[in-house]
Amino acid sequence: MEASLTARDRVGIQDFVLLDAYTSESAFLDNLRKRFHENLIYTYIGTLLVSVNPYKDLDIYSKKQMDTYMGVNFFELPPHIYALADNVFRTMLSEFNNHFILISGESGAGKTEASKKILQFYAVSCPSTKLLNNVRDRLLLSNPVLEAFGNAKTLKNDNSSRFGKYMDIQFDHRGGAVGGHILSYLLEKSRVVHQNHGERNFHIFYQLVEGGEEDLLRWLGLERNCKNYRYLVQGDCAKVSSINDKSDWKTVRKAMSVIDFGESDTEHLFAIIASVLHLGNLKFDADARGYATIKNNQEMHWVSKLLGIPNQVLQQGLTHRKIEAKTEEVIPFSVEHAVYARDALAKAIYGRTFNWLVNKINESLKTVTFFTHFTILILLFFYERKTHFEQFCINYCNEKLQQLFIQLTLKSEQEEYELEGIEWEPVPFFNNKIICDLVEEKFRGIISLLDEECLRPGEATDLTFLEKMEEKIGGHPHFVTHKLADKNTRKTLERGDFRLLHYAGEVTYCVVGFLDKNNDLLYRSGKEVMQHSKNVIIKHCFPSSEPDSKKRPETVVTQFKNSLVGLTEILMSKEPWYVRCIKPNESKQPAKFDDVLVRHQVKYLGLMEHLRVRRAGFAYRRKYEIFLQRYKALCPDTWPNWKGTPAEGVRCLIKHLGYKTNEYKLGRTKIFIRHPRTLFATEDAFQVC
Ligand code: ADP
Repeated sequence: MEASLTARDRVGIQDFVLLDAYTSESAFLDNLRKRFHENLIYTYIGTLLVSVNPYKDLDIYSKKQMDTYMGVNFFELPPHIYALADNVFRTMLSEFNNHFILISGESGAGKTEASKKILQFYAVSCPSTKLLNNVRDRLLLSNPVLEAFGNAKTLKNDNSSRFGKYMDIQFDHRGGAVGGHILSYLLEKSRVVHQNHGERNFHIFYQLVEGGEEDLLRWLGLERNCKNYRYLVQGDCAKVSSINDKSDWKTVRKAMSVIDFGESDTEHLFAIIASVLHLGNLKFDADARGYATIKNNQEMHWVSKLLGIPNQVLQQGLTHRKIEAKTEEVIPFSVEHAVYARDALAKAIYGRTFNWLVNKINESLKTVTFFTHFTILILLFFYERKTHFEQFCINYCNEKLQQLFIQLTLKSEQEEYELEGIEWEPVPFFNNKIICDLVEEKFRGIISLLDEECLRPGEATDLTFLEKMEEKIGGHPHFVTHKLADKNTRKTLERGDFRLLHYAGEVTYCVVGFLDKNNDLLYRSGKEVMQHSKNVIIKHCFPSSEPDSKKRPETVVTQFKNSLVGLTEILMSKEPWYVRCIKPNESKQPAKFDDVLVRHQVKYLGLMEHLRVRRAGFAYRRKYEIFLQRYKALCPDTWPNWKGTPAEGVRCLIKHLGYKTNEYKLGRTKIFIRHPRTLFATEDAFQVC
């Protein structure tokens, strides 16, 4: 008994539900820290998996480990991402239903790694045939390609996903992987033209310049020197010691060939990537009237050649704008405007090409059977605390997912009690509907107000948007600005800021750029120019049937909101599983556990809340068979073999163990235990015997 207590003191508890002081954030943190220092990076809260990034390779992902976790009951082995993956898989096969695994955490917390580990586990554990192996290889290989185009080095993570994504893996009734589907949203396009200090553009640009074959570079008009390209050096860190662009290029090229990228596709794709680099180097001069003219014709030549657009047409598109009037008018740009239009075009080209790429990968992952299939959806979601438009969208999404999370957790908890015929008291919880409404309510929510301002080009500015919010929602308890704040709060706000009190804490947003980014303006002339392209991918990305600017396109935030509605509907129809990833320090170091940083994440990942919900009713529940199987040795009547039903066996067992009647409830198929202490004592007795 003492020995096991000492061990627990040292390595902590593997399920927070068993934590005595379950309402104490400090106790939570202590447990996480203890385990982290013992290289035990995984801990459960019931079936939710908390993972702390070790920032070093641990010997826990071998084939042997996978075998250990395959087909074993969830709580019988130490917590592991494989246990979760296996449990989801087996539940799907026994219940024939669909599931989703939501992996969340901030940048660098280990989400991408977690999703890869799940995929690798399925790649090994699923039944295999030649056909299925083919699907499996494609699923695995689509990842390096997506990462090359959608990931970048940021200050927090050398390989940070700069887009939200979810991936569906489709299985047949025996559990063979038969297909997949990837959906991406909100790619951070602004990175194409601008990077903060210490950050890079998307990997693929550097891979091409560093790793591209001589012939290819010559054909693309590129030199093997990242420093020569303006879009690659704004962060002043084109070379990073942890990244080998040259070998990554080879990996990506190889992966592309497996996932059906033909010669023509790749040629067109790299022509586009190179054209973006040339576009970034385009400079403008002002003519005598102050209008923009192209300064470096050589770069212009390359853009025109690579995109297959006549030079004259392209020049006109980059320096002039068409406007709607009774007769069509063409207005020349100032230099400043031309720079803006150039960058807008580069972002649009890259963003749309990225979407094309995802579609192309999806074609290759198309399901190979017509038979019924079940899906496991892996959703990666990142939390950001920064303060721009993109983060506003992301935090809004977090708010919605939190709402869903509470609904699903409470709902499933409630349903289980009902199903098992157990009485329980509902738990009070913070309902974040008030914040969701503040953002999305029709006519007076922030999104509506923003879209309304975007309808007044020329008149509205970021500041008029701020004023409008002050006027319409100024009294809302979760909204504050410099003008509205009391004396103390005012000190912490700039004039152009607004602050929202999200469920996870306060976030201050700088209003600058909201209108611009929400409009995502690509001048009509820019779009039309692209329609002249002979490059098949560009042709596909800028179809001539696209509604032109006469019909107002949806704003970015509205598109995002609509895609969230779709996502929520999909998620509501599936069974949820959660992985919450935590970053232990900002410096990417192993064995360093920064209490303040982790405490903050524990808070906004909603972990304490989840624990409370799990604990509010019954901390633990187990199927009679499993409970009996594990503890039958503790009672002479049930050991070695119990002849009656498992439920009767459990009754006999707990009577022998002296469980008090208020400590447990017996449902139709499961025993429910109120306090972890009870199970603890049983588990200790088991360990000793
Ligand atoms: P995110 O997707 O949350 O931004 P990543 O999954 O890319 O973060 O993780 C960032 C880095 O942390 C990885 O490149 C890897 O070096 C390290 N890392 C993350 N998870 C693990 C793990 N389970 N074991 C070892 N290293 C890890």
